[in-house]
Amino acid sequence: MIPRTPLASLPTHDVINMPPHLGDQDFWQSDNALQEGVLREGGSWAASHLATFGKLAGANDTFEKAEQANRSAPELKAFDRYGMRVNQTVFHPAYHELMSMAVEHEVASFAWNHAGPGAQVGHAALTYMFSQVEGGAMCPMAMVYAAIPALRTTPSVADEWVPRLLSTHYDPRDVPVTEKTGATAGMFMTEKQGGSDVRTNTTRAIAVGTSTGIGTEYRLTGHKYFCSAPMCDAFLTLAYTDIGLSCFLVPRWTPDAERNGLFLQRMKDKLGNRSNASTEMELQDTWGVMVGEEGRGVRTIIDMVQGNRMACCVSSAGLMRQGLVQALHHTENRSAFGNPLIEQPLMRNVLADLAIEVEAALVLSLRIARALDEGDTDEDAAALARIGTAIGKYWNCKRAPAHVGESLECHGGSGYIEESIMPRLYREAPVNSIWEGAGNIVCLDVLRAMQRESAAIPALLSELESASGANAALDAAIDNLRNELKNPDDLECRARTVTELMAITLQGALLIQHAPAAVSGAFCASRLAPRWSGAYGVLPADVDFDFIIGRAQHA
Ligand SMILES: Cc1cc2nc3c(=O)[nH]c(=O)nc-3n(C[C@H](O)[C@H](O)[C@H](O)COP(=O)(O)OP(=O)(O)OC[C@H]3O[C@@H](n4cnc5c(N)ncnc54)[C@H](O)[C@@H]3O)c2cc1C
Repeated sequence: MIPRTPLASLPTHDVINMPPHLGDQDFWQSDNALQEGVLREGGSWAASHLATFGKLAGANDTFEKAEQANRSAPELKAFDRYGMRVNQTVFHPAYHELMSMAVEHEVASFAWNHAGPGAQVGHAALTYMFSQVEGGAMCPMAMVYAAIPALRTTPSVADEWVPRLLSTHYDPRDVPVTEKTGATAGMFMTEKQGGSDVRTNTTRAIAVGTSTGIGTEYRLTGHKYFCSAPMCDAFLTLAYTDIGLSCFLVPRWTPDAERNGLFLQRMKDKLGNRSNASTEMELQDTWGVMVGEEGRGVRTIIDMVQGNRMACCVSSAGLMRQGLVQALHHTENRSAFGNPLIEQPLMRNVLADLAIEVEAALVLSLRIARALDEGDTDEDAAALARIGTAIGKYWNCKRAPAHVGESLECHGGSGYIEESIMPRLYREAPVNSIWEGAGNIVCLDVLRAMQRESAAIPALLSELESASGANAALDAAIDNLRNELKNPDDLECRARTVTELMAITLQGALLIQHAPAAVSGAFCASRLAPRWSGAYGVLPADVDFDFIIGRAQHA
């Protein structure tokens, strides 16, 4: 616990020029771009819920819980004291408190509990805010959110599991789910011999009875190499039947109230995301029920993957926002060479550039969220959501590690020290780019969307055209993208180039339409200029730094 009024006069020196503790944040009230975006994209009715959560999630107390949960990483408890196999994970109490806060405030369930216009936008805002304080509890929240569409492919399974997963009660007990007031779900796809290429899975599933196919019982045997949140009550996983790779729901407890054959082998010792348990697991005669069509497992689970990719996209925007908030606070309260850092021209360039990136990441996330909301009834919106999710997952996640690193550097040496939140954010940042499809895989998915969904590119171009004629650099970048799209040669090799161009033109077009001119002008003058290096702090000198920094600071 950091004392609120630390002793600044020490026997050998007075402590001066050190920033005060940042204290409570209000993730909603202090974020102009977030409030404007949610209102614009159809989520105004969710504002009071978001405001309540923003205050709670941003409280100093929540940051302290996150710090505790990450310092005391979960431990594997494979056996109980009598040598019985229990396959449990033991978490610090702070992790449970964070999970409870997230579940009660519908971080996982909002989009489904309030389905309709603005629901996905509200969900994205919750994800963006919660990711600023804790990525470890965010992982199971994202998986619960993402599991719902896949479960709904199989009504008998959905009837049983969806209400439990959408409960706003957090019930961490390891007991049969029928005794619980709420449940969580995870997803195991990755095996040792291949994570991106799940066709190499070796786990086998054999039908329990004479019936086979959707909704029937199977026994699974094999392994999974990355199993995050293994304390969940159920998991979607993949295994081969004679017909092909199929999707199954495997619960922690069987319907006969026996522990299911989910054998935790070891806990991963991870770079970041340390409050979250990630394990290796063996499945031995594990009871499961088939979800979706037999042999179409990838098709079934891809709905969950898409939801998780959306969560990665939004989460990365949240991480960048928190890095920026910390950097603004530090530079406002620290002087060098006679002036506050925040007033030094080159630091202003860095801070404004970081602020623009956050706003671009957020405007893209919320636009895709609206497309998800509209996608049920509008084919063009569904096409934009499909390709936009992949574009946003690639680009926001790719920008986040360097962004957090730059925010850390704004603190000087203090940013490198564990007591600041910066090392934790820095370690957290790369994971969104790896799980749910690493960068190359996601860019290849953009190509797949282009080739298989005829409405995808028209939907993207129509979004870009809404802003054409307003900024010469944007117009030139859109032309450049069109030329890239016309060229069918070496498309796989050029997939990152094409995806990046899609991302920055889309961000530019959205900012031109919705952000203040100073923000969109600076974005287009840097990201869409021919010589942009991608580094932060390289905005042209005529940018309105005062406005951009002021907008990013507390409202
Ligand atoms: C902290 C953490 C938690 C995780 N939790 C889970 C979980 O709960 N459930 C789960 O199922 N998985 C989980 N994963 C696994 C994650 O989804 C995989 O690591 C990821 O999908 C990549 O698979 P891989 O590790 O087998 O790498 P590989 O598939 O071997 O890929 C290695 C690299 O090669 C690239 N690559 C692959 N194919 C191509 C190609 N055709 N062209 C160009 N490049 C290519 C990839 O982009 C990647 O950069 C987790 C991972 C981490 C780090």
